[in-house]
Amino acid sequence: MAGLVVAMDGPSGSGKSSASRGVARALGLRYLDTGAMYRAITWWMLQGEVDLTDPAAIAVRASEPALSMGTDPDAPTVAVDGVDAAGPIRTAEVTAAVSAVSAVPEVRRRLVAEQREIIGAGDIVVEGRDIGTVVAPEAPVKIYLTASAEARALRRTAELTGTTVEAQKAAMARRDTLDSTRKTDPLAKAADAVELDTTALNLEEVIAEVLRLIKEKV
Ligand code: C5P
Repeated sequence: MAGLVVAMDGPSGSGKSSASRGVARALGLRYLDTGAMYRAITWWMLQGEVDLTDPAAIAVRASEPALSMGTDPDAPTVAVDGVDAAGPIRTAEVTAAVSAVSAVPEVRRRLVAEQREIIGAGDIVVEGRDIGTVVAPEAPVKIYLTASAEARALRRTAELTGTTVEAQKAAMARRDTLDSTRKTDPLAKAADAVELDTTALNLEEVIAEVLRLIKEKV
C-alpha cells in the first residue's frame, strides 16, 4: 500500500468528507480536502471585493493568495496568506459563491497543480469533484459517492443552523448543476471509479465499505 492514493469524488452531502477522513485515519494516510482550497480562494476574493460575476476579474487575481493545507485527518487545516481560514470558508456566503470561482480555468489550473504537489509520493486520501478524472487519474482506488437528494439535504441541514431541508435541497441542486455543467473539469465519475450509494448507510458502514474496496483493489 506504500504510495497509495485514494480518490474520493461526489456531490456535496454525499458523505465524502467524513468518510475520507475516517478512511485516512484507519489506514494511517494523509487527507486532502480540495473543496477547502476552492473555498479558501473564494473567501479571499469576497474579502477583496473581487466581482464574482466576472470570470475575467476572478482569473486575474487567481494566483495572488497563498494557500497552505494541513493534511492530518485528525486536524486538517487551511490557511490563506498565513491566516487560519477553517471557520470562514464554511459560511453560507462562501458556499453560495464557490461554484462561480471554481468554474474559472485559471483557478483550476493553479489549484490542480498545488493538489498534485501535495499528493506527491502518495499515502493520501483526496476528496473533491475531479480527483479521479483530472487531479489523480492514475490513482489505483477511485470511489464516487452518491446519495439521494433527500438524504444529502437532511445531512447538510443537521450540520447547520437556521436552515430547512427544502432550502438545502434547492441550494445543493443549484451547486450540483453549476459544478457538473462547467466546461473545465466538471464533477464527473471516472470511467474506472466504483460508485457507492450512501443513502441507506451510516458513516461507519461507508468507511467499512471503502476499506473493503481498497483491500480488493490494492
Ligand atoms: O467539497 P465542497 O462542498 O467543500 O466543495 C466546495 C466547492 O468547490 C464545490 O461546490 C465545487 O464548486 C468546488 N470544487 C471543485 N473541485 C474539487 C473540489 C471542490 O470544483 N475538486
